Amino acid sequence: MMSERKSQYMKDYREKNSEKLRKQNLAYKTLHKEEAKITRKTYVSNNNEKIKTSRREYYLKHQEEACAYSKDYRIAHPEKVKTVLLDWRAQHAEEMRAYSARYRAEHLEILKEKDRHRPMAWQKRRARKAKVVNDLTERQWLFIKTIFRQRCAYCDKKIDRLTQDHITALVHGGPHTASNIVPACRSCNAKKGIKGPPKPIQPVLPLGI
Ligand SMILES: [Zn+2]
Repeated sequence: MMSERKSQYMKDYREKNSEKLRKQNLAYKTLHKEEAKITRKTYVSNNNEKIKTSRREYYLKHQEEACAYSKDYRIAHPEKVKTVLLDWRAQHAEEMRAYSARYRAEHLEILKEKDRHRPMAWQKRRARKAKVVNDLTERQWLFIKTIFRQRCAYCDKKIDRLTQDHITALVHGGPHTASNIVPACRSCNAKKGIKGPPKPIQPVLPLGI
């Protein structure tokens, strides 16, 4: 341990001679540039995890500042940011393709499941937005499709992925509820749009489900 007197002395010395020391330091660094580079490289490769962790910690601590800074930067330099992004994408196109193929292969089941729920989640969101009754459950939807024998209510085609068609459209205040929903193929659903049904439709009333 350094004695207190000595450490105080050094502190004073550093303070008094800060400019001189800075110059010395710089001169040393310039002279030993290559050496310093190697030292730094060795340090980085030996302390990879430590550096990563401390960077991460720093980032989390200064997240808001960093976000604000990068937002300001994006606003101030939109063209530059765009160019950098496009360059990066062009340089990493192959990697990105490989990555997303690998991701798809590894998460096939999850993605399939997501896909299965997507129309429902999407319709639910829209119904919530339109502020109409919104109480269709997954079980009711399965029941409705079963009663319609997995067929489109309008063209009677058997379809794996039926969409939920609102007999009275959401935009016209039709509720997102079993008595207003029939299964339809994408084509019929799109054709119908927000108009009324092309033929009289008897909705299913899944009572107690
Ligand atoms: Zn159809």
